[in-house]
Amino acid sequence: MIRKIDTQVIIVGAGPAGAAASIFLSKAGIQHLILEKEQFPRDKVCGDACGGKTTFVLRKADQQWMQQIFEQSTQYLPTHGALFFSPDGKSLSIPFSRKNVLPGQAAGFTTPRITFDNFLFEKLASPFSTVHQNVSLQRIDRTSEGFAKATFIENSEQIEATCRLIIGADGDKSFVRKTFLNSDTSSKAYCVALRAYYKGVTELHHENYLELHCLPEVVPGYFWIFPLPNGMANVGIGMLSEQVRKKKLNLREVMLNAINHNPHIKHRFTHATLLDKIQGWGLPMFIKEEPVSGDNFMLAGDAANLVDPFTGEGIGNALYSGMLAAEAAGNAFRENTFDGNFFGKNYDKKLFGKLGTELKTSAFLQRLCRYPWFLKFVVNKAYKSPTLNHAIEGMFVGINLRKELLKPSFYGKILLNR
Ligand SMILES: Cc1cc2nc3c(=O)[nH]c(=O)nc-3n(C[C@H](O)[C@H](O)[C@H](O)COP(=O)(O)OP(=O)(O)OC[C@H]3O[C@@H](n4cnc5c(N)ncnc54)[C@H](O)[C@@H]3O)c2cc1C
Repeated sequence: MIRKIDTQVIIVGAGPAGAAASIFLSKAGIQHLILEKEQFPRDKVCGDACGGKTTFVLRKADQQWMQQIFEQSTQYLPTHGALFFSPDGKSLSIPFSRKNVLPGQAAGFTTPRITFDNFLFEKLASPFSTVHQNVSLQRIDRTSEGFAKATFIENSEQIEATCRLIIGADGDKSFVRKTFLNSDTSSKAYCVALRAYYKGVTELHHENYLELHCLPEVVPGYFWIFPLPNGMANVGIGMLSEQVRKKKLNLREVMLNAINHNPHIKHRFTHATLLDKIQGWGLPMFIKEEPVSGDNFMLAGDAANLVDPFTGEGIGNALYSGMLAAEAAGNAFRENTFDGNFFGKNYDKKLFGKLGTELKTSAFLQRLCRYPWFLKFVVNKAYKSPTLNHAIEGMFVGINLRKELLKPSFYGKILLNR
């Protein structure tokens, strides 16, 4: 016996993209189901660093949430900048801009994803949302009457939910993407990354700066040390999959080698303890603008390949795209239109209008960063050029600042040390 449910929207995945979609759908009074295959609180392998776009969306959702976050100092650590290390170990300090940051708050924060995702998950309860956890999604179909249907199993019961619209927020191996989009465009920009939790790493920055180390063996990826609350640190390494394959690298060995032998890093781990096993996950990086919606569906977050190819940031883009998907859903219900043409204009165009330039610039920078000499040049120049320093800062916290990198005048200013 199959139980049948009717709703307006189905969101697949309750990570940041799905949570943002749900929160903004609830604000618009749109009934929806959230289908999640795990049970919250659940872990997600990540660097655990949240920047300007995350705080922007959270503030739009509720003015109080950032305050709630910063009040819990044992769970969330405010971060005020980044330290960027060139392949020869020279560092560049980049304080985050305080523009749009409320007094007493920081531009960014770190927290284990198990904590942050559960914070968002607990905000989903509303008269308009129904959460189904631990589900096994069986299939997704479109009906000839212009509806979409998700068939799933929950507690051994088979359920068929019918809706006008599915939001695929189900991460890098998205079932929704595979069902609706046949193209597999992510292989070349796919990045593999490892995460480890350590306690006792020394010489962390007094304002909790995020450390990005461009080790010669890893570029255009990087090794990172991100301070976390309670004296912990998120330590990891990320690299393009094609490079890992080509160089026949064992990423775990590369990471442990950096920790145990790199002259700029090893002394900081002398008394550090690994708290959990080292875990890996993929990052579907943006390469170029491609459709992320169609008849009866939109994709958000990693399902739409929105990870920034230069910084590796994906949480902010997941939240932002989830928010825009909910806005497009509101327009669709107002106009009673759910076709691909409508979502192309109301979602893809707005999404890439907001994020496209910075993602394209990041893809360009990632290609340049394959060359260690370029990174050394950037760090040396940034000491002398306020324009470059400002642009690097914008990469980590800004939404529009990266546009500057596409202007020829930008490079003229750098060469003149302005
Ligand atoms: C090692 C590493 C380090 C990173 N570091 C950072 C960082 O420091 N800062 C940053 O901003 N980003 C970072 N990222 C990227 C970031 O983790 C992702 O971009 C972000 O999690 C995307 O959010 P999402 O909601 O799209 O997907 P996810 O967070 O992956 O959430 C997807 C949800 O969908 C559920 N799901 C999947 N399949 C199904 C299904 N079939 N049915 C139902 N539910 C399903 C999953 O259980 C999950 O809860 C990192 C990524 C990695 C791998």
